[in-house]
Amino acid sequence: MEKLIITTALTGNVPTKKMNPNLPVTPEEIARDVKDCADAGACIFHVHARDEMENPSLDQEIFKKIVRKIKDKAPEVIVQLSTGARAGKDWEDRAIPVRLLPEMGSFTTGSNNLPGIIYENSPQFIEFLAQVFKETGVKPEIEVFEPGMINNAVFLVKKGILASPLHFDFVLGAPGSMPGSIKNLLFLSESIPEGSTWTVAGIGKNEIPLANAAILMGGHVRVGLEDNLYLPDGSLASNPALVETIVRIAKEVGRQIASPDEARQILGLPKENKERISGNLE
Ligand code: ZN
Repeated sequence: MEKLIITTALTGNVPTKKMNPNLPVTPEEIARDVKDCADAGACIFHVHARDEMENPSLDQEIFKKIVRKIKDKAPEVIVQLSTGARAGKDWEDRAIPVRLLPEMGSFTTGSNNLPGIIYENSPQFIEFLAQVFKETGVKPEIEVFEPGMINNAVFLVKKGILASPLHFDFVLGAPGSMPGSIKNLLFLSESIPEGSTWTVAGIGKNEIPLANAAILMGGHVRVGLEDNLYLPDGSLASNPALVETIVRIAKEVGRQIASPDEARQILGLPKENKERISGNLE
């Protein structure tokens, strides 16, 4: 079986330090967690920015500061910047993280209801953002909350905007979205084009069980405080503790862990894209 790629979703838009004091919020805290998680075995880092009040932000300067600190502490890791909607609805604003030229960016190819909000991604916006991914050569991670989002991504490939093979992240168990059952994970993993890669992000108590399933099925795993604040025993988690849990489980069933360069190879990330973002940080 292919080596296991572990992504850490460090911060997200929703959690606060009040909910879990281990949540990394400042650039320093985020970079420190990246280093500790990378040492534990994670290689992709899904990054959101927060302002000084802990609110979600698309401020370019904050993203730059975070990436600069990550590159200082853990130069080998793959940075994936979030284009998540909650921080603002302006199209160009949401494209800012992609235009900084990280190796990867997240891309939700549809709308859905999340607690208290519509996570709005109109057909026009999706096509706009796909064009930005095309122009920049940044690899999108297609965030799939329901099966129609797979079709939308495949449609963009047919139109020649997105490039194959696609990489999907199945986000399961968020209130208002597909429940986090293994049956749903199996269904989604069998619904993507041949040659695609996939990872799973189980929300809340779904995180570790779905990660287990993905490890056995040959998929990849995303964990982190963005998606889940607790360890399986109910105690408060930290990002490194979640990564350590996954590494332990994978080792027990004989699945090896991918290094950042092995992950680049599995996902088809061009080597020359590794350092591009470093030129945009001043
Ligand atoms: Zn996110």
